[in-house]
Amino acid sequence: MTRVHNFNAGPAALPLPALERAQRELLDYDSTGMSIMEHSHRGKAFEAVHDEAISLVRQLLDVPDDYHVLFLQGGASHQFAMVPLNLLPPGKSADYILTGGWSEKAYQEAGRVGTVRIAASTEVDKRYTRIPRQEELQLDPSAAYLHMTTNNTLFGTQWHWLPDTGNVPLVADMSSDFLWRRIDVRRFGLIYAGAQKNIGPSGVTVVLARKDLIDGGRKDVPVIFRYATHAASNSLYNTPPTFAIYLVRNVLAYTVETGGLDEMERRNRHKAGLLYGAIDERPDFFLAPVENESRSFMNVVFRLPTEELEKRFVTEAAREGMVGLAGHRSTGGIRVSIYNAIEVTSVERLVEFMKAFVARA
Ligand code: PMP
Repeated sequence: MTRVHNFNAGPAALPLPALERAQRELLDYDSTGMSIMEHSHRGKAFEAVHDEAISLVRQLLDVPDDYHVLFLQGGASHQFAMVPLNLLPPGKSADYILTGGWSEKAYQEAGRVGTVRIAASTEVDKRYTRIPRQEELQLDPSAAYLHMTTNNTLFGTQWHWLPDTGNVPLVADMSSDFLWRRIDVRRFGLIYAGAQKNIGPSGVTVVLARKDLIDGGRKDVPVIFRYATHAASNSLYNTPPTFAIYLVRNVLAYTVETGGLDEMERRNRHKAGLLYGAIDERPDFFLAPVENESRSFMNVVFRLPTEELEKRFVTEAAREGMVGLAGHRSTGGIRVSIYNAIEVTSVERLVEFMKAFVARA
């Protein structure tokens, strides 16, 4: 078996031990004579997995008791609609900070539901190369909520501070940096994250939400779109994506076994340091568009002097077992996604390749 160094932006690499566990347990889960996929979502076997996955999220992030942890379907894009459907009543307005393509999509979708306002945008010529500063934010003190995207997967920027919103609940799309380190959940009213970057396969989206926000949510939307529905049934209102949740369990159990989020943060900082170090060593060759203080620890983007060289870089890296390096189709360039599951050795390997590539280019 040859596993490649997988730098895909999402779906992305999963920790090998979590996959191996799935392989071991695939045909006969816990001596039940069937796979976890074949179990009823109402049965004891699946329910134990489901509850373990939820409690692992709680444990890793110290989620306070007055927050729900939900497992929903439809991806982060579904949350772009579900957030305003629940939290943006008629007569109120919601603030959005635009820092990339995904926050634009969240803003546009919310605009189809109710009144929205741009509290800040760092867009210049369709590109976003930085995170705004607090003094740039024009916050509406009576907004229903303020929405932000903590890590911008396409543009390689990440928030390294949190806006002060007063009494306005902060809503965050953390799809591409969920669980990369500890956070203070109390700073947020609601957090959502598609699993397929840091914590599992696609198919399940984690939502952390303050209970009072959800309880006070709109009741004039279909029950399936209400957070309260899913909260009241422990995310088992209808059939959940059982296998995706099972894999999230495997990934998070492994995360705990290997030192939890403190160790995860240490490794992630080390990996990003190696990569940015290699980029900064040759600023004449690796062109990093992102402002230093806004650099992402998850998605590292850079350009080479020509598109021709970028193509060669991607092709030659693939030949050496390093894949997923082409930038997003809307931005071009190179993008290296170094989510939780990426080993330090994979980044070391890539850095070696980058140095050799410059030398022969
Ligand atoms: N938000 C962010 C920050 C993303 O990176 C993505 C892309 N995976 C999305 C939202 C959309 O996610 P999904 O495809 O799960 O709807």
